[in-house]
Amino acid sequence: MTSINKATLVGGGIGTLAAAAFMIRDGGMEGRNITILDALPVMGGSLDAGGNAAQGYSLRGGRMLTTDNYECTWDLFKTIPSLTAAGRTVFEETLAFNERHQTHALARLVDRRAAKVGVPAMGFSVQDRMELLKLSGADEASLGASRITDHLSPAFFETEFWLMWATTFAFQPWHSAVEFRRYLHRFMLEFTRIDTLAGVKRTVYNQYESMVLPLQSWLAAKGVVFVPDCKVTELVARSEIDAFEVAAIKCIRKGVAETLVVGDGELVFLQNASMTDASSLGSMSTAPAQHTKVDSGGWLLWEHLAQRRPEFGKPATFNGNIAQSCWESFTVTLKDSDFFEAMMEFTGNVAGTGGLVTFKDSNWLMSVVLARQPHFVDQPNDIQVFWGYGLFPDRIGNFVAKPMAACNGDEILTELYGHLRFDRDARQSVNCIPCRMPYITSMFMPRDVGDRPLPVPKNSRNFAFVSQFVEIPGDVVFTVEYSVRAAQTAVYALLKLDRPVTPITAHDKSLHARFEAMLKLFK
Ligand SMILES: Cc1cc2nc3c(=O)[nH]c(=O)nc-3n(C[C@H](O)[C@H](O)[C@H](O)COP(=O)(O)OP(=O)(O)OC[C@H]3O[C@@H](n4cnc5c(N)ncnc54)[C@H](O)[C@@H]3O)c2cc1C
Repeated sequence: MTSINKATLVGGGIGTLAAAAFMIRDGGMEGRNITILDALPVMGGSLDAGGNAAQGYSLRGGRMLTTDNYECTWDLFKTIPSLTAAGRTVFEETLAFNERHQTHALARLVDRRAAKVGVPAMGFSVQDRMELLKLSGADEASLGASRITDHLSPAFFETEFWLMWATTFAFQPWHSAVEFRRYLHRFMLEFTRIDTLAGVKRTVYNQYESMVLPLQSWLAAKGVVFVPDCKVTELVARSEIDAFEVAAIKCIRKGVAETLVVGDGELVFLQNASMTDASSLGSMSTAPAQHTKVDSGGWLLWEHLAQRRPEFGKPATFNGNIAQSCWESFTVTLKDSDFFEAMMEFTGNVAGTGGLVTFKDSNWLMSVVLARQPHFVDQPNDIQVFWGYGLFPDRIGNFVAKPMAACNGDEILTELYGHLRFDRDARQSVNCIPCRMPYITSMFMPRDVGDRPLPVPKNSRNFAFVSQFVEIPGDVVFTVEYSVRAAQTAVYALLKLDRPVTPITAHDKSLHARFEAMLKLFK
């Protein structure tokens, strides 16, 4: 136990919610001494989901998890009671759900003729295999800030493996070679089953209702204070000498400027930026607005802090190129079951067992996923909801002569139905809500050592970063796990807990897993 008695967390994403839970559960802190501020009106950050049957549901993202990885996430959710399965934790509820509804995709790739593409092999040439082996064996120092294209030849990006891997994890050829290599190691078990997604685990409902709300209500019951609509504009440092210690937090709460004094024994955690910063929703008749960080101001705080302290990283590495980090998702609410029935017949999968269906020749590189229904707790029986995305929103569509970014929900549906060769019934009651996310893969931008701060930077006295933009050796970004691991790492270090952070499972060191991966590689 330490003399730490209070904490303020800037940002209310899963990372800081997890940090609060670790401080209470493992650090023995009292919930009432923990305050979480977020600029948004609700907690949960990128894991939000909302809407209703009448106006349409909407989620920025749908998440795939695994139980072979996500060690810190499940460590946390083994403590958190489910809100929808009485007497069970979120972990137990999720596990039981996945035992009942196992993923085994039968239609991962669909071609330009609307035919399912069999993927018995990954499509590798001998050269692809050699290059992939070389890249996976390289060390991070030698890869530096190189891109995936610096190591793999153009033909690799035409393989079935690339199409499935890239659309599952949202990689682009120009992204970081280091991060791509980390994924090969961290998700080695998924390498062998990427064609069926058999390792993927899903939550019972969307992740806002199945993960964020149970965690938030556990924290609320412990007395944690949540402050929405509160944007932090400055962290005032106590001294400009060697160490960094936050003395005050300047914020704008519901439009009113405030200064919160940070006393002795108080910690400050910051979510430095967000992958969903500056995101915007459209509608059936309007395309999403094209916002940038200038509109949102979401990166400013990190940019200001990093200006004077090189150990706080380089935000410009991640937010400097929207053309390379933007894609678009969409959520569809249907008032009849025709689409789901047609998809079931086409794919051979009951909703919730199929994973991603990717239209491999689509200009937008479009994928859809039909979750087990209902996907929202209050979703009526006659309503169906599914989610999809396009990784190339700047390209003209195959069935709509416009870039996805300029399309409204109606046009996105025209494109989707075109790829499926499904008739669209003009009488059908459907609502498609597009969502543009300019920084969605900003974490994958090529980076060098030092571009991301450590969760607890050198010389920090009372301050930590908890986000996707920190350095955690061996783990992979664009995952819930990364934020929860950052939280555990930061909390245990600042509270000086004599307790190890939940270790990363070394599947890549297991002889059996390596043998299976080799078999798949050479199939
Ligand atoms: C489309 C999509 C698909 C995804 N798919 C998967 C998947 O399949 N599997 C998986 O594991 N993960 C997936 N993820 C990633 C996962 O959702 C994120 O990694 C995770 O939610 C990030 O959590 P976080 O707490 O670090 O940050 P965020 O959730 O981004 O939260 C950061 C919060 O900080 C707030 N904030 C920042 N600065 C300030 C400030 N100055 N003042 C006040 N508030 C501030 C922001 O408003 C935001 O609410 C996906 C994400 C998306 C969007």
